[in-house]
Amino acid sequence: MPLKFHARRHQSSFLDPFRNFAPSRVEVELRIDPLSGDRSRILSFRYRDLGRVDHSLFLERDRQRPCPFCPENLPRMAGRFLPELVPEGHLHRGQAVCFPNVFPYEGLSAVVVMTRQHYLRPSQIKAEQLSDAFLLAAESFRRLGRGLRFGSVNWNYMMPAGAGLVHPHVQTAGSTAPTRYQARLRARARAFARRESRDIVEAYLEHEQSQGARWLGRLGPAYWLAPFAPRAIYDLMALVPGGRGLLELTPRQVQGLARGVARVLRFFESAGVGAFNLSLHTALTPDAGLPLMLRMVSRVHIPPMGVDEINYFEKLHEETVCFLSPEEVAKAVRPFWSDKKP
Ligand SMILES: [Zn+2]
Repeated sequence: MPLKFHARRHQSSFLDPFRNFAPSRVEVELRIDPLSGDRSRILSFRYRDLGRVDHSLFLERDRQRPCPFCPENLPRMAGRFLPELVPEGHLHRGQAVCFPNVFPYEGLSAVVVMTRQHYLRPSQIKAEQLSDAFLLAAESFRRLGRGLRFGSVNWNYMMPAGAGLVHPHVQTAGSTAPTRYQARLRARARAFARRESRDIVEAYLEHEQSQGARWLGRLGPAYWLAPFAPRAIYDLMALVPGGRGLLELTPRQVQGLARGVARVLRFFESAGVGAFNLSLHTALTPDAGLPLMLRMVSRVHIPPMGVDEINYFEKLHEETVCFLSPEEVAKAVRPFWSDKKP
């Protein structure tokens, strides 16, 4: 049985006060993603322009205290790895620096500061900085993650997305057990492989490439698209088929993946997305069975009231409410799908 892209439409009828109480019907589409099991409700009638990215409030508050990730403070304000594990205390690559997270979420929980610059707008973050950060995260898993099977590299960009500091940084997590989301991805991948004797990611990509409306293209080892059932208003996803994990990619392949992230960042800024989350889910051992998925989701406040895009549906029902369809999002991203400015 092939992958099922399940979509069901519900209609809601009422007398519309904006149209002199004429009878009106509005459609809501409920989608279930066959790769992840994610559920989304697409309500494209509610979308509003987000305006320009404005971080002035956070930058103003930020002036009150020293930044532990700035190069002049980092040596005395950042944690150091135990000397028996990393004698040099920190790991380095390009401008990126990796050290233990002093507010850990996992047994292996590290921070990778991406750049020496304290503040960068999304469009200013370069593919080289992103690939150095991912490669340094991979090195930390290699050196410190012995016996661990499931990993992630995670990014909260700006305070509405959960960031505690302005200075661009990602956080790694490595564990013997998958997170709840990773467990679901893995269970679905394993069930599909048992049933169909093939890789679920390959089958998913094959469908999406031939369908076309959500497809962006390939960069290095990664295939990019807007997922069928998004987890945010703007949700872009990269998948690497063939069961490979981050630790099995060459530096050149990681650079390819990072180029896609940089393109999405340029798109985010132009669309008014000033806060986002990124997670790269990866197996740390070849037998872990977790597909490599990188996901970037907006965390926007919708004007004019600054309404958070996350509401009770997501927090308490585990379904996302989306004001744009992924087909519309993919169309809007396409002009940015090159390394040149659109
Ligand atoms: Zn800083």
